[in-house]
Amino acid sequence: MRIKDEAAHANTIGIGGHIRPDGDCVGACMALYQYLVKVFPNKRIDVFLEQPADVFSCICGVEHIRTDFCTDVESYDVFFALDTAKERLGGAEKFFADAEKTINIDHHVSNPGCGDVNYVDAQASSTSELVFDVMDMEELDVEIAKAIYIGIIHDTGALRYSNTSPKTLEIVGKLISFGFDFSEVIEKTFYQKTYVQNLLLGRALLESIQFMDGKCVVSGLAKKTLDFYHADSKDLDGIVSHLNQTAGVECAIFMYQTGVQEYKVSLRSKGNVDVAKLAVFFGGGGHVRAAGCTMKGTFHDVVNNLSLHIERQLKAAGIL
Ligand code: AMP
Ligand code: MN
Repeated sequence: MRIKDEAAHANTIGIGGHIRPDGDCVGACMALYQYLVKVFPNKRIDVFLEQPADVFSCICGVEHIRTDFCTDVESYDVFFALDTAKERLGGAEKFFADAEKTINIDHHVSNPGCGDVNYVDAQASSTSELVFDVMDMEELDVEIAKAIYIGIIHDTGALRYSNTSPKTLEIVGKLISFGFDFSEVIEKTFYQKTYVQNLLLGRALLESIQFMDGKCVVSGLAKKTLDFYHADSKDLDGIVSHLNQTAGVECAIFMYQTGVQEYKVSLRSKGNVDVAKLAVFFGGGGHVRAAGCTMKGTFHDVVNNLSLHIERQLKAAGIL
């Protein structure tokens, strides 16, 4: 699939990504937005996302994101869903449903493809990598390259996770040849944390519990703690990966309270536990080593429900 061909006959084009957008989602959406604006200067192009974290304000065009999910376009000729299936488009789900033609670009193993045209590859490091694939290299510029780079960096843990392939690195090589300060981009968008983010990470680590013979680690933050620090989900990025770095741990669980007896759960695995399977069972999705879902119950209910499945998988793999 080529974006230029798929969107050639459209007058109005919309783009949406998943709720609580992460670096890959923001990078992919903004790279595609910039590309379409550049290639089709006379078309109407809108991008819809929930407000991204402040660190992504270095991406060109973020001020154009329609975070209020308002538009005067009745129905888009083409609508792109990036880094998700349609169910997690949030306020953009209605635009996707009403569009003449839908295109889905994603790398979640839990997404079979929900568009009229699908470019879904669970082997890809990131949706940003897939967005690069379907663009014409001669149309890229330094700002588009930077947005794609940010997406790849965030979904590969700065090119560290096993989803980083030779192809990913080849693409990154091409991207950094555009000449942006890639070192600063990694430092400022990926590693740098606010003081509050560090405090929350500290609390989560301090209060974490290792169980199942050290193969699992869990931590959670209650709503009152987040309120005390005036924090939201954007301040919790990276905590679950940190927990998963614990020696001996096969599966890490981090959850934060989103309501009465309701938690947003993030799961990470070293590879022997398929956390996508787990997340899908509880109504979420993701990848083998990184997945998420929302679960009802107390902190202990959530741990108990997840543990049962983790234990089964570890026993089947002969690790427990
Ligand atoms: P998280 O731990 O929430 O950052 O998510 C880890 C991975 O799982 C990301 O690729 C998310 O896009 C994906 N993910 C998280 N929650 C869900 C969900 N409810 N449905 C589908 N995918 C999810
Ligand atoms: Mn992604």
